[in-house]
Amino acid sequence: MFRSLRALARLRSTRVAIVATVAAAAILVLTVPGLAGALRSSVPPPPENPTSADEIQNVDQVKTAIRAYYGDTPTSTVDPVDNSIDGADVQLHTFSPTSAYAEELGDIVSHAEQVLAEPRHGHGTKAILFDVDDTTLNTFDYEIYSNFVFDPTTNNAFADAAIFPAVPHMVDLEKFAESLGYEVFFLTGRRDPRRPGTIANLTGQGYDLEEDHLYTRPLDDAAPWLTSCAPTCTTIQYKSLTRQHIESLGFDIVANFGDQFSDLTGGFADETFKLPNPMYFLP
Ligand SMILES: [Mg+2]
Repeated sequence: MFRSLRALARLRSTRVAIVATVAAAAILVLTVPGLAGALRSSVPPPPENPTSADEIQNVDQVKTAIRAYYGDTPTSTVDPVDNSIDGADVQLHTFSPTSAYAEELGDIVSHAEQVLAEPRHGHGTKAILFDVDDTTLNTFDYEIYSNFVFDPTTNNAFADAAIFPAVPHMVDLEKFAESLGYEVFFLTGRRDPRRPGTIANLTGQGYDLEEDHLYTRPLDDAAPWLTSCAPTCTTIQYKSLTRQHIESLGFDIVANFGDQFSDLTGGFADETFKLPNPMYFLP
């Protein structure tokens, strides 16, 4: 069934319905409202080696869909990148609080609050752990500014300017967790030089942050708990070994929140929550 749903999602996303084979028509009959939820998070990636353009989403249509999903809204703020680098002040965009994105976050946070209220709790002081980019801080403004092309220089300027808005509902989730006695950790792939901007941005958006509960990534992965993979840990190694380190300090990570699967795999959390991010993929 799972495979057929993935196949159906691929068929829908690539608009190959015009290939009106009997088999395709039979599968499309399954496109009923009750399946919408099951399909919503199951759009498959295109094949690594496509043999036809019909197997690949049109990138301009994908960008249009992403803007609609976030409720693309212009702001009066301009980009923080020095004009000697990008040549001009560019008006920033942001998401809408009434977007499908914000609504989907609301559903996830409601479910998370139920789990946190009655956790499958192991040994140690109960804790939750948040990723930063697109888990607690939303980077839609940068993705629109950069036309979805990551550049470390301009991205660092955005991070250091501490201008990302909070992901909808996540500040409330943090407060809810704290009210239940949870310790709150932040674990980001941002490197140590981004630490001041990260602290300023998280606190500026209303998160309670104990600075020794924020893990930024050391240059060359130079941390005692990363020696098995330093200086070139994968994201999954960096994040799971850091969670292991946190748990070794006496905490039980009840819930781990991330927008990338590489935030969530590798263990050392009782529950994981995948937040939506159709803008980029980080292995
Ligand atoms: Mg992230």
